[in-house]
Amino acid sequence: MRFRFGDRIATGASELGSDTIRVLRGTFFEDPVPTGEEVPFDDVRLLAPVLPSKLVCVGRNYAAHAAEFGMEVPEEPLLFLKPSTSVIGPGDPIRLLPISRRVDHEGELAVVIGRIARNVKTEDAAKHILGYTCANDVTLRDLQRTDDQWARAKGFDGSCPLGPWIETDLDPTDVRVQTRVNGEVRQTGQTSDMVFGVATLIEYVTSFMTLLPGDAILTGTPEGVGRLEPGDVVEVEVDGVGTLSNPVEAGS
Ligand code: ZN
Repeated sequence: MRFRFGDRIATGASELGSDTIRVLRGTFFEDPVPTGEEVPFDDVRLLAPVLPSKLVCVGRNYAAHAAEFGMEVPEEPLLFLKPSTSVIGPGDPIRLLPISRRVDHEGELAVVIGRIARNVKTEDAAKHILGYTCANDVTLRDLQRTDDQWARAKGFDGSCPLGPWIETDLDPTDVRVQTRVNGEVRQTGQTSDMVFGVATLIEYVTSFMTLLPGDAILTGTPEGVGRLEPGDVVEVEVDGVGTLSNPVEAGS
């Protein structure tokens, strides 16, 4: 995880369920050596676990979600990008914009890249993965329908909550991805229902675009996307990873 501790921002590692974090000297990608210092989990504020150069997102990667928009699943992965500035961390507010009347949650499994990845074949994909985290592909649904390109609908500031940490020990082939709003379940899916799996996506994306350490692939959302309103709290939980929680606020 990345976290703020007092006036420092640091990178650390922990086991699930542990109440302390081992501070690392560098980042996950460079010099990730424990300093020997440990800090209590309760005393830190978790930040977005990585600062990606870009986020590569997959549209309609679950058949049941494609069907709720009356669409077929694509024959090849349908990709779009979110910019680095879309990322916010656990607990950070999602600020709704007055330009949109319909903002939706999309809970997703995110794959975090650990090594430079270019022309990676499926059998080598795992070597390029640091781990997995939860993501919310927050979408201005009305503008997604009216804009030909989705830079606005999917790329606005705060449209990519990410976290709470990166789980490095996970088999992503059959885990549950659930989204709740104010505690009520809105979306539940299994990653085994993804049309294109993680290794296939890495091969596809890296055949034309280099992925850098810290970049993330958002693997698509299951059915049940729905509206967010000011005052809501939206949670994305990936089994075996954890829960990402963000409040929703009216913005300007
Ligand atoms: Zn999505």
